[in-house]
Amino acid sequence: MPAATELRGSHGKAAGPVLTKDFGTADLYKLAVYEKIGGYQAWRKALTTMQPAEVTGEVKASGLRGRGGAGFPTGTKWGFLPPPDGGPRYVVVNADESEPGTAKDRYLMENHPHQLVEGILIACYAIQAHHAWIYIRGEYDLQHDLVAAAIAEARTAGYLGEQPLGTEFPIDIHLYRGHGAYICGEETALLESLEGKRAQPRSRPPFPAVKGAWGRPTLLNNVETLSTLPWIISNGGAAYAKFGTEKSPGTRLFTVSGDVQRPGNYEMELGKPFSHLINDLAGGPFPGHSIKVWWPGGCSAPVLTGEMLETPSDMESLAAIGSMGGSGGVIVADDRRCVVRCAYRLLQFYAHESCGKCTPCRVGGNWAVRTYERVLAGEGTAADLATFDRIQTGLAAGRCLCGLGDSAGWVIQWTMERFRDEYEEHILRHTCSVEAAARA
Ligand code: SF4
Repeated sequence: MPAATELRGSHGKAAGPVLTKDFGTADLYKLAVYEKIGGYQAWRKALTTMQPAEVTGEVKASGLRGRGGAGFPTGTKWGFLPPPDGGPRYVVVNADESEPGTAKDRYLMENHPHQLVEGILIACYAIQAHHAWIYIRGEYDLQHDLVAAAIAEARTAGYLGEQPLGTEFPIDIHLYRGHGAYICGEETALLESLEGKRAQPRSRPPFPAVKGAWGRPTLLNNVETLSTLPWIISNGGAAYAKFGTEKSPGTRLFTVSGDVQRPGNYEMELGKPFSHLINDLAGGPFPGHSIKVWWPGGCSAPVLTGEMLETPSDMESLAAIGSMGGSGGVIVADDRRCVVRCAYRLLQFYAHESCGKCTPCRVGGNWAVRTYERVLAGEGTAADLATFDRIQTGLAAGRCLCGLGDSAGWVIQWTMERFRDEYEEHILRHTCSVEAAARA
């Protein structure tokens, strides 16, 4: 197994108050080290002193919202599962982190795998599931090996298995490697893939809480969400809710990438402005440059401008200006970047990753790519502005089965809305003053 003897994937060793509070501890990925700093005490407390409903109650009290993209309240989501009927039910962990600009789950699995394993065990007990599946991105070799080793260590130590901590509540955790497709991060496509089928989203309802993996009630949570649970159970939901804002409590792990001086992963209290994250923690733009555009939640979140950096990082503040917290991947581009070319690159990604199930997504993505190629080659015509409008209208507003179609449409819609002058320059005057200035 490869050793993770140093903090990987980030600049500096500054620790946040919840998820990364122990980062900087040598060999944190080893069970003995994790136990020394209080590891698995939350699991012991939940399993031996709390009823499952009490565990769910603490998570509800914390106000924790899912960190995978949708931001749905975690405790409420757990409550959607029907009562146990004697048949199997599952916890499925979405570790298929493939949103561009997002590497925070990778960071957690690399540096703190036992924290995730402990969170999974707590979730299993809360919903009375005896099996959990971690669906891990296929490219995450090191992370897979570290999480597999953590599960094996926890099993040997008696934290999971036939009689965890001497109780009669058997639990096992299984690892399943993904197949390298973006769509596998969509929860129902992930379930299809887990079941050995082609990864295409399912129609809903029924939702996975009622009919999920192998047709059984299933709780799907993201790596970061589950990694937060040991802290919540140890310290109480009310203590967690003191961080952040009233509707977006807690902290969040952000990945900052692009044109900043210290790209990396940073844990920050929700509600603090993005200027703190981008300028103070990630070092801000390079000397002589300014931030022109940024995506606050992976490229699937509608784009924002440099003038919006003071926006608070809670989900409500982002929604108020037409964007979203999404995956927590903050992508930054400075004044050298042509927005039309950025949009083209993103549409290439969405067109390539479309699963092909819905016509607007399958056809619209490729149509957009071909139109961008023509425009960037200086062959655009005035009609292309209407073409872009037509494509984004067809993609967005819930006309597709999953969020990929929406996101592709938003790239066109919001880059045009916020940088119309750049589109007009390309299409009507066949030039790009931004790239010309960058080359000069
Ligand atoms: Fe597949 Fe695109 Fe439809 Fe999603 S929106 S189900 S990726 S075709």
